[in-house]
Amino acid sequence: MDKFDCIIVGAGPAGVAAAITLIRKGLTVAIFERGEYPGSKNVFGGVLYSTVLNKLTPEFWKDAPVERHITKRRYSILSKNSEMAVEFDFEDFNQPPFNNSFTILRAKFDRWFAQRAEDSGAVIFTETVVDDFIYDSGKVAGVRARREGGDVYADVVICAEGANSLLTEKAGLKKKPLFHQMITAVKEVVSLPREVIEDRFILSNDEGVALEFFGEAVKGMIGSGFIYTNKDSLSVGVGCPIDVMKENSMKPNDLLESFKSHPVVKKLLRGGKTEELSAKMIPELGYKSLPKLIADGLLIVGDAAGFVNPSLYREGTNMAMYSGIMAAETILEAKEKGDFSEKSLQGYVKRLKNSFVMKDLERYGDVPEKLSEMPQLFKEYPDAILKMVQGYFTISDLSKDEMHRQAWNGFKDEVSLWKFLWDMYKARKAIL
Ligand SMILES: Cc1cc2nc3c(=O)[nH]c(=O)nc-3n(C[C@H](O)[C@H](O)[C@H](O)COP(=O)(O)OP(=O)(O)OC[C@H]3O[C@@H](n4cnc5c(N)ncnc54)[C@H](O)[C@@H]3O)c2cc1C
Repeated sequence: MDKFDCIIVGAGPAGVAAAITLIRKGLTVAIFERGEYPGSKNVFGGVLYSTVLNKLTPEFWKDAPVERHITKRRYSILSKNSEMAVEFDFEDFNQPPFNNSFTILRAKFDRWFAQRAEDSGAVIFTETVVDDFIYDSGKVAGVRARREGGDVYADVVICAEGANSLLTEKAGLKKKPLFHQMITAVKEVVSLPREVIEDRFILSNDEGVALEFFGEAVKGMIGSGFIYTNKDSLSVGVGCPIDVMKENSMKPNDLLESFKSHPVVKKLLRGGKTEELSAKMIPELGYKSLPKLIADGLLIVGDAAGFVNPSLYREGTNMAMYSGIMAAETILEAKEKGDFSEKSLQGYVKRLKNSFVMKDLERYGDVPEKLSEMPQLFKEYPDAILKMVQGYFTISDLSKDEMHRQAWNGFKDEVSLWKFLWDMYKARKAIL
């Protein structure tokens, strides 16, 4: 076909959700994906948040290659060789829709999701990089793909290219992100027998746990480490802003190795075999630095638009799919009017503004900035708290009162109490 109703660049969650929505309404759609197959190059933590997917494909978990549903969450602060953790276990999350939180492996999930689009009639060109948009009188009119006969035309293009958004930048909709606006993350998939995972993490059947680690997990820098349980593997990784890594002369792989060799983490990974290692960026642009989302004949969705919630929720997949669907609905409206100008595509921005996407980005968009003003949260405080608590639990010949006083005085020597309480208040306000 020479011309499609819509071309989508990228077969990630955002692009495929958009494609399915358009195809169901009878539009012709082509997706260009640079990977050998959708998902082949995609990396994430990760927990798929699926309220949006469950509306698009009800009870998708019966068919989709999901790993485990998350019933437990554990947040942990590490010092050099100690841990302080809080764990939540919710029996209610064992019931459909399983709190809309599933661990997945992108190579399997993205492939399955893209197949849904293909089965409905989308044409997917894999192993095809889009190098640029084609313009006609200033309006995006197609894409220039790196293959024979690579100029393909459409009424409108959705750019779902993910965090490394070269096309969005080239089109002048987004500035090159600054180092503090991008998280560099590395992740390993570590295989372990299913029974070992279930015994070690106290899980039944397909229950799963998401563990987040702070403090010494990332050498006291701003950022975190994670372990998520899959069926018979663990997703293990670390992520920190690029500028923080640079300031500390830290390489992502060295940081991951250091995380894995922490005594607490080492026990959890014992006996595991590394199956794959990958690295990727997470955009944390901040609400005020979001790109322009539309131009004549063009809409930007998902990570390319910076739609990732940087708080404890770390929700990127749900936002990606929602923005893809909102872009598609706007295109359906535009098609009726026969007008794909920027003005006609304004509905996309309006839809997002009224949704959890923009509300959450506005609420949490400046979390990284706020936390970067309080580096003591990640090193000084965890070390001091753990030392104090260790003092409370270290049995000696002292009376308990003396033990407690000693531990408490030690804490006050290292930390200004008022500053600590003020920082805690600010951190809670920023993150939760
Ligand atoms: C380490 C890590 C952990 C994360 N953890 C979580 C988590 O636990 N939960 C969560 O919800 N989110 C998480 N995220 C974020 C989440 O992965 C993203 O928000 C989500 O994948 C965005 O989807 P997308 O479709 O916009 O982009 P992507 O998933 O990045 O898809 C973009 C697609 O476009 C293709 N592409 C790019 N450029 C071109 C081109 N020029 N031509 C052709 N194809 C192209 C790519 O190959 C890719 O398939 C994490 C991200 C990372 C990196």
